[in-house]
Order: sequence, then structure tokens, then C-alpha cells
Amino acid sequence: MNETLFDGEEAFKHLKMLAEEIGARPSGSEAERKAAKYIQKYFEKLGLDVQIQEFEVTAGKVKSKLLEVLKPNLGEIPCEAMPLTGGTGVEGVEGEIVYVESTDEEYLDSKIAGKIILTPRFTRKSMNILMKYKPLAIICIENYPKIYPKHLWGMPEHREKYGSIPILRITFEDGLKLLDSKVEKLRVIVETEEEKAKSQNVIGELKGTSRDDEIVIIGGHYDTVPNVSGAGDNAGGTSIVMELAKVFVEKGSRRTMRFIAWGAEEMGLRGSIFYAKKLKEKAEEFKKSGGDGKSELERVKLALNLDVHGAMIGSNSAAILGPPELTAAVKLLSKELGILYNVREGVYSSDGTSLSSIGIPSVSFSRSSGSNIFMHSIEDSMRWLRPQALQIQGEFIEIFLTRYVAEAAAFPFERKIPDKLRKEIENYFKNRLMLKPP
Ligand SMILES: [Zn+2]
Repeated sequence: MNETLFDGEEAFKHLKMLAEEIGARPSGSEAERKAAKYIQKYFEKLGLDVQIQEFEVTAGKVKSKLLEVLKPNLGEIPCEAMPLTGGTGVEGVEGEIVYVESTDEEYLDSKIAGKIILTPRFTRKSMNILMKYKPLAIICIENYPKIYPKHLWGMPEHREKYGSIPILRITFEDGLKLLDSKVEKLRVIVETEEEKAKSQNVIGELKGTSRDDEIVIIGGHYDTVPNVSGAGDNAGGTSIVMELAKVFVEKGSRRTMRFIAWGAEEMGLRGSIFYAKKLKEKAEEFKKSGGDGKSELERVKLALNLDVHGAMIGSNSAAILGPPELTAAVKLLSKELGILYNVREGVYSSDGTSLSSIGIPSVSFSRSSGSNIFMHSIEDSMRWLRPQALQIQGEFIEIFLTRYVAEAAAFPFERKIPDKLRKEIENYFKNRLMLKPP
């Protein structure tokens, strides 16, 4: 009854193509487009109805970066810089350094004003608190030893709201070195370049055979942060989505399945937010024009999102934003199949949350692993990943979709998100992503 077609080895070929052949796929880049083309061609080969949904992003580049210790004279410290938070210009800045262990507002005072801030506690929220003191630059120390500095975009909206600031990242070891040598004065140069560019969602639809008006989305983002091959995050999830598309073309489905590779997730869920906005706008127009029956948005019953996958040594997780019976279904299936999932109700910081913010219940499947500490760094590579890990998740999701979407007589999950979870989604957009929900 639970016969599966999912082939982890086949999925692994897609993973390899995206992470190794194409490599880093930062949004708005030629490489992101190349990856989109690869997924598009595959969906077309399967016979899906394929659409490319383009949207605008602010892309950026770090043209040059330098972190130099002037007093004592220690020379250069390797660093990465965020392309979209602001730069120093070619001339750079020189200033005194101050170590900020806690970025809680009540522990800060004007002693840190106008300096270069060194901190191990950096979040979007802390950036906005630190900005009140008009620092020259912020240097974040990685939370763990033995990790290369992470590559992150930064958000132009925050810069517009809170001001421009160069933000650099250094290793845990270099953070310690700076503190040990009682550094007083630093020079920072970050030259950035910015442009409007296009990113895209790749959408492949398999029309349902008897309940085609009911739609289920199965998605994962294919973009990366700059310079990182993003094997686990998220060539892994994308490759499972591609293989699942193949599986259900073969098996068929009573309900419509929409397979989506999201663009620009790493810039702040841009692809899924754009998609959700469009669905919402269409629903409003539909209502205004007095359309009969349900809008497309109301017909999307569920979204599965796959983000961070493929680690051999690890465990399975599912985060749910939806009715209690959806959580129960994942838990029961986990027990029945003997595939352990850590199931919780709450936000997972990825594209499923954009869809849930417009009322679509979602399940975010992911693979937890010690190697996930390398996420967004150059060590998020194929090294930690194996086909077997894709197989585990792929089979589980195939069985879930077969029972509850492809074959179920009536759709088993109410299209409802409990108030407590809705609040959590609101807070996530407001406090963590610091963006307006769709
Ligand atoms: Zn991701």
C-alpha cells in the first residue's frame, strides 16, 4: 500500500547539477537564471504546465573589502561583508573599536557612539538598536569556532529605514584574536555596488484528474547567498521537489499539484512573498468582479515547503502552520512508517511562512544536522550530503502526498490556521524578518 517511486539517487543528480555544476546561485545573477532554466527544462520534459514568474530584486556585490588592525599593528583580518546594508566608499573609515557583548537596549550607552562595534550577538533586531549610536561599522563574530565567515545579503529596506552601515563578519578565532590583543584602532573598507535585477519562481503544474479545483503547492528555494554553493540550503530541497514532480507525473493525482522552485529566498523570502501577493491580489479582483465560487487563493489547500536537506548524519523535522489534524497526520505517519520526525507547530523561517501568512496551511520539512552550522558559508557543500538522506524525506513526503492529496476522497485538512499560529506568523514578519507580510 505504501509502494514508493521516489529515487534518492535521481534526486541527488539534480542536487549535484545545482550545487556543483552551476554552483552559487545568488538572486538576480546569471547563475540563478541558469538554475531556473535547468528546473524549467526538467518540468517541461515531465510534461508539466510550466510558468516562469519574474519579479524585481535589489541585487548587490561587494567590490572590495578590508579589515585592518592599525593599533597595535596586526595587519589584515579576513572578513566577509554584506552587499546590501551599506559601504564605506573607497576611502574607508578609521575608528576606535568597542566590544559589545549584549545588544539588549538597556545594557548599551553612549560610550559606544561613533565607534566600530565588535559583537558576537548580531541579529536584524540588534542592528537596528546599534544604529541609534551611529557606529562607523559593525563587525560580527561567528557564533561557533571553525566556521568561515558567513555570506549574507542584508536588506535594503532596513538600510532605508535605519541608515547605511557596513557590516562585516569574521571568524570566532579572529574575534578572540582581536580581544586578546587589546585592539584599539581599526580601518574598514567596504565598497559595494547595487542594481535592480530580475529573479524568478519556476512553477510546474500537474493538473488533477478529478478534483483539479483543489491545489496543493510543493516548493523549495533554489537560490543561494552570494559565493556559496548552497548544497544543503537548498539544492537539497529543490532536488526532492523535482523528483517528487516526476513521481506524481507517473502516479497521477486527483488534485492539482503545483511544484514551485522559489527564487530569492535568501534575500528575505522574496519569491514566495511575490507569489503570495499576486494570489492575494487576484483573489481581491475575483471578489470585486463578483466571481462565482472560490478564488484561486481559496482553492490552494495546503503548501509543503522543503528547505535544508540531504545531510547524511541528521534527523527529520516538520514545522506546521495549520489545523491540528495536519499536525496529527504528520505525527501518525511518522509513527506508522517508523521514520522519526520531530514535529512541532510554529514558524520555520522559509517560504512556507509567506504562504501561511495569506491563510494557506503549510508544512516545512527539513533535515536537521550538525553540518547545518555551515549554512550560508562556503562549507555548505556536497561533502555532508548523501542520496540516502534525500530518499528518507522523499519517500515520506511521497506517501503523505499519495494518501492525502493524490488519492484522498475528500481533502483531509481544514484550510485554517489557528489564532495562536497566526500571531506567531505576524510576529515573525514584524520582528524577525522585519518586512511587511504579503
Ligand atoms: Zn534555505
